[in-house]
Amino acid sequence: MTSKHIAANTHKLLVGLTGGIGSGKSAASSYFEQLGVQVIDTDAIAHELTGPNGLAIPEILKTFGPAYITDDGRMDRAKMRQLVFSNPAERHQLERILHPMIQMTVFDRIQSGRGVFDYVVVVIPLLFENQHYADLLDLAIAVDCPEELQIDRVMQRSGLTADEVQRIMAAQTPRATRIAKADKVLLNQGSVPELHALIDQLHRELLDLARAKTRH
Ligand code: ADP
Repeated sequence: MTSKHIAANTHKLLVGLTGGIGSGKSAASSYFEQLGVQVIDTDAIAHELTGPNGLAIPEILKTFGPAYITDDGRMDRAKMRQLVFSNPAERHQLERILHPMIQMTVFDRIQSGRGVFDYVVVVIPLLFENQHYADLLDLAIAVDCPEELQIDRVMQRSGLTADEVQRIMAAQTPRATRIAKADKVLLNQGSVPELHALIDQLHRELLDLARAKTRH
């Protein structure tokens, strides 16, 4: 079953939420949750799939060998990150294992979710870096802010240096590309209450779009 077939099985509007590191994806998604919107985090799903006894562990063991599985049965994330960082073939292999499982889990959660609204937010940090989600979503929202703000926020959150944050940002889709590819941009350059007000507005727009979709 392709993602298109799966997507056709849900009447809900599927909204992807992406953005660079520190742009405010978590801040935005927790406010969507506060509004009562179902939010599905693909990073958290990937962690579960590769955690102890995770669904992806047998396939990872078969493909990459026991060196990539820790004693307590989870994927050795540091080791795997090192392997796939400079090795696209290995990265694609890992993605071929994980992405179908992530997609199935997303749709399981949509089907079994008790979301009160006709749209669902799927958080996909690297949405524009890979093609797996393109035909699955109805629209994509990019959380965005000036790069200096991204750096400040991540430094405060994690204690990384400005250089380290910039290196992570350099490996992600450039800001301008992300803005160009997104259907909507959520500009998070003010206070948290300002972000919430923008999301209140976006929520109303998404409800209208969801209503239009369910009518068809
Ligand atoms: P992401 O999930 O995109 O990496 P976060 O939502 O975790 O980004 O935001 C990065 C950091 O910046 C967090 O510590 C968060 O609390 C803070 N933050 C996010 N948006 C704002 C804002 N509008 N004003 C002040 N701090 C913010």
